[in-house]
Amino acid sequence: MEKESLYYQIPYVKEFDAKVLSCVKSEDKYLVELDAHGFYPEGGGQPADKGAIGDAVLSDVQEVTLKDPSTGEKLKDDRGNIKVKIIHTVDRPLTEGETFHCVIDWENRMRNSRNHSGEHIVSGLVHKHFGYNNVGFHMSDVMTIDFDGPLTFKQLMEIEKEANAVVLSNVPVNTLWPTPEELEKTDFRSKKELKGDVRLVDLGGADLCACCGTHVMTTGEIGPIKILSVLGHKGGVRVELFCGNDALSDYRKKHEQLLQMSHMLSVSIDELVEGVQMVLDQSRQKDWRIGAINQRYYEMKAETLKDFDGVLTDIEDGMNNVELRKCCDHFMKHTASKVVGVFGRKDDSIDAQDDNCQWNYVIGSATVDVRSKAKDFNALTNGRGGGQKEMIQGSATCSESILHKSMEELFS
Ligand SMILES: [Zn+2]
Repeated sequence: MEKESLYYQIPYVKEFDAKVLSCVKSEDKYLVELDAHGFYPEGGGQPADKGAIGDAVLSDVQEVTLKDPSTGEKLKDDRGNIKVKIIHTVDRPLTEGETFHCVIDWENRMRNSRNHSGEHIVSGLVHKHFGYNNVGFHMSDVMTIDFDGPLTFKQLMEIEKEANAVVLSNVPVNTLWPTPEELEKTDFRSKKELKGDVRLVDLGGADLCACCGTHVMTTGEIGPIKILSVLGHKGGVRVELFCGNDALSDYRKKHEQLLQMSHMLSVSIDELVEGVQMVLDQSRQKDWRIGAINQRYYEMKAETLKDFDGVLTDIEDGMNNVELRKCCDHFMKHTASKVVGVFGRKDDSIDAQDDNCQWNYVIGSATVDVRSKAKDFNALTNGRGGGQKEMIQGSATCSESILHKSMEELFS
């Protein structure tokens, strides 16, 4: 962490010129050291900057600790800061000693800064109200913060409300570099033994924390802060949240989904929950009615087949697995059939005599071991499945004639 780094300067430094100190090939990339530090290296939970050095595309920036070659100890400057070099990964070689114009991918940087400042506000408020510490922080598609104590979603909604009030107050974000004496007297979050220069970030009075990351200039730049979920994690909780454009994109995506659902159900978005409940209730009632009709149907059909003592192959369009099993079970108990096979056509758009017709099947018998024939049945019907010796079930792809033929061939 270098106090002089361009990525800490206010107003923001978006472009700068830098001389290439070294350039080393590494697999299909090049590792470059510059004489100016404007690209933020990955650290403190914040991803590295992206951008361009001349025509070269910058894909990664890492801080590498310098060590004494003889003792292996970390090197420090006279203020106690660990000495580092910053390595930039680019896609093409850059001439050593030459100066290049460097451009930071500003959208990416601001996304990281918004997330980082938003994370500080939420962590600061959780610490203030509950005394918990931020023990892990990760930014990728969604940002996560781990706290070392339990929090409910309801409690986090209160935190979210307060965090957004800090954003709307649009107060300046200040960076302080206190002397060791000043630091001693200052109360800040995650205070621990810190060596060398310490950088404190003050989020408009909502949070004061030691930090090496980049931040926005005023809290209003963060944009909306939206907490998405909370899950138990290592004795505490993991909170997922979005800040700024990420929160807006998420809102847009979810709003579009809600609009689609409201059109599908012909209700307004405000009435969606009632609308979904109504569809579920109707579906449950239909299931109940279909179950009752099916039962009557099994009984009536079994009555007409009660003296049939051969191999019964019964075709039932659209019956699901549960219904097929009930039907097969009923025929086994109430007909004299030696073996019962019940087949449900899966898709009414494919003709039953088509070789590509798909079926669910249940085959049962009280006297014949049907499991012993499962493999042969699957081979004949291009199917798969198995089960117990009294009953097997699975799926098949063949014409209805093949089903009849296979049942006769294997079980009569
Ligand atoms: Zn931080």
